[in-house]
Formats: sequence, C-alpha cells, structure tokens
Amino acid sequence: MSEQLNAFEMAQEQFNAVAKQLDLGDGVSEMLRWPMREYSFRIPVRMDNGEIRVFQGFRVQHNDARGPNKGGIRFASDETMDTVRALATWMTWKCAVADIPLGGGKGGIIVDPSTLSDREKEELCRGWVRAMWKNIGPRNDVPAPDVGTTPQMMGWMMDEYSRLVGQYTPGVFTGKPVGGGGSLGRTEATGYGVIYTVREAMKHLGMDPKKSVAAIQGFGNVAQYASIGFIEILGGKVACVACWDRHEKKSFTYSHKNGIDPRFLMTIVDQYGTIDMQKAKAEDYSVDDGDAWIAADADVLIPAAKEGMVNAETVKKISKRVKLVAEGANGPVTPEADEYFKAHDIFDIPDFLCNAGGVTCSYFEQVQNDMNFYWHKEEVLDKLDQKMTAAFHGVLDMSKDKNVYMRDAAYMVAISRVVKAMELRGWLTGSV
Ligand code: GLU
Repeated sequence: MSEQLNAFEMAQEQFNAVAKQLDLGDGVSEMLRWPMREYSFRIPVRMDNGEIRVFQGFRVQHNDARGPNKGGIRFASDETMDTVRALATWMTWKCAVADIPLGGGKGGIIVDPSTLSDREKEELCRGWVRAMWKNIGPRNDVPAPDVGTTPQMMGWMMDEYSRLVGQYTPGVFTGKPVGGGGSLGRTEATGYGVIYTVREAMKHLGMDPKKSVAAIQGFGNVAQYASIGFIEILGGKVACVACWDRHEKKSFTYSHKNGIDPRFLMTIVDQYGTIDMQKAKAEDYSVDDGDAWIAADADVLIPAAKEGMVNAETVKKISKRVKLVAEGANGPVTPEADEYFKAHDIFDIPDFLCNAGGVTCSYFEQVQNDMNFYWHKEEVLDKLDQKMTAAFHGVLDMSKDKNVYMRDAAYMVAISRVVKAMELRGWLTGSV
C-alpha cells in the first residue's frame, strides 16, 4: 500500500459518496461513518527465551443492528487502529450484502506471526481472549481468522473463552478446525465464493470461462482456493500468482507456460504464503517482479492479497485484455483505480461482495455449532453458492436499476439493509 493511503479514510470516502446519493441525512451518516465501539489493549506474553514481550491488540465493533458483530482477527506487523476500523466497517457492509444476520467487527495484533514459535502464538491468542472475553460472545461479537491467523488459532481462542465462561462455547469463534467445532468447506469458502461471483459476472459479460485466463495476487488461503476454483469449477487457466517472500522481504510473480498448478504450488508454500522459489524453478516456473501479475496477459484480475494494491500507479500497468476484476482481498482497489476501471469499462466485483464467502460460511459454522449438528461439505458449498449468487444478482440489479458502478451498488444494497434494521429496532426514532 502506498505511504499516503489510509484504509479507513478510503472506507469513509466510499461511504460518503453513497450516503449522499441515498440522502441518508447527517445523523444516520454519522452513526455509520464511525465504528460504534473500539478496544485497544496490551497483551503481555512470556517468550520462549524467558523474557516478557508486550503486544498491541485491537478490536473494533462497527455496527450490530443486523446481528452480532462479525469479522476476523489479523496478525500483521503493519496493523493500525485505522486499518482495523476500515476492515470492521467493510464487514458490516459484507454481512449485509450477503444478507446474513450479522454486523461488522475486526480485530488485530501488531505482530509478524512468522517470528513466533507455536507456543508463543498460542499464548498470544489466549492473551487476546483474556483481554476481550467480556466484550465478545456468540450473541455479541464473533471473531474469525484473517491474514496471519489460522483455524488452529481459532481453536485455542475458543478454548480460552470456554474456560473463562465455564462452558463449551464453540459459536464464539468461527473458522475453527474441522473436528474442533469447525465447518467443512470453511477453508475453501472465501476463494470458492470469489469464483461463484466471477462465474455470474462472466455470464453477465458474455465471457467464456473456459477461454479465460486469470492473474492472481496473493497465495494465502483466499488466492489458493480462488486459483483452484478458477481452474476446476470454471475450466479456465491461471497465468500467474504473485506472493510475498518473507525471506527476501519482497514479492514475486510465479508463472508457468501451461498455466500455474495451484495444487502443486500448495505443496511448496509455507503457512505464511511464501512459495519455495527453488522448488518452483525446478518445475519450470518463471519468477518475476512482484508487480508483474497486474500486467499479465489476462482477462480476469483477482487481487487477493492486501488493501491498496491496485492503486493510481499500478492500475496503469493493466493489460488492455482485462475485462473483469474480482476483489478477493479487503480494500485492494483504491478510489483512483476505481476511476480508471470506470473509464476503461472494466467490470469490478467489489471486495465486500466478492469475498463474502468466508463470512457466509462462518455464519453456517455458527448455525451448526448452535444446532450441534454438522452438515456435509456438499451441503455447505451448495448453500454458499446460493447465497453468493443471490448476493451478486442483488447488487447487479441495483447497479442496472440506478445505473451505477458495482461498488456503489453494493454500498446501496448494504447501507439500505443496515439502515432498515436500525429503523426497525427503533434506533432512528425513539431514544437514540
Ligand atoms: N476475515 C474474513 C473476512 O474478511 C472472514 C470473517 C469471518 O468469517 O467472520 O471476511
């Protein structure tokens, strides 16, 4: 992300533009422009060398009019309160656009998880819960994994919460490991959800998925399953993936003349998303600069890494062939890049629609936890497909109806649903 870009300012800018068009009024806009609650706390951890290190933790609860706050916890060395605010705000819109009865939240810790041992990670996870347990719960705020966090971490966090409240409470965290309260299909859900929306967008644009080529940024959970889905569900080809190399401290683009094989790359990527370069080269992969993915000769771009990656600078490198951008990450496209897409007639599936598959499956996980009855993988993925397809068409219809860009249409659908819930709960009429 460029130095100047502040994700929360970007989230507010996007919101302001649509709030004006919807004529929301100052009071309601002010309620939605800022998160309702924010927590900032310190987490002391005894490290393996015997020393105590203190980490900075966050949780932001943006809006819970439609149901408990919901959203991941990121472990990232560049985490800030403003990034967490932006991500929490986008979660409110994401749950509303997917039409699941949840609100928006996000958490984080300033840490590079690859520098921690497993024991230190577990201590940090448990410490986060000890700081927050009174303010989260299945009926008020339900965290999940995100960048830098894993199903195992959610298992530890759920365990710590259950110990503190004195009863097994699986529904307090989602994205837990299968067999430890998790749902089948959760691992694939975000990436496959991206692909379900790509499939619907291609129908709308008259593109043939089997003749389509994608270029993908990232090779974490979302990008891995988006690549697999692009090939196995749609029958297309993935020209390249770009990923961060934690040893070299820069990113690289991996491409292959026959298209990349994500299932092979998954055998040589570590848990932090770094591909083993030597092993890739041994299988004839070419390795280029980290920005090369965006200039690839492709029909579809899937930025599935971090916020701000498609910006005023990088957007100019996009090949003329690109017709569709599917935002697998949260906030990868800046307002300047949006203007470029509009000017060049590139169809964009905005982040909080495109990547809503993860939280939708989290919702299914919570439902299964509450029922104490677990579904087959096909059932989970079927229900996910239905939800994502309905969400995509809800936004597309709005975009046609009002003749607006897809991101604005997604905001219109989401904001209207949240405002409606606030109205129905009496938040906008009686005592506020
Ligand atoms: N972290 C994911 C997201 O940004 C999933 C959130 C969840 O499952 O609650 O959508």
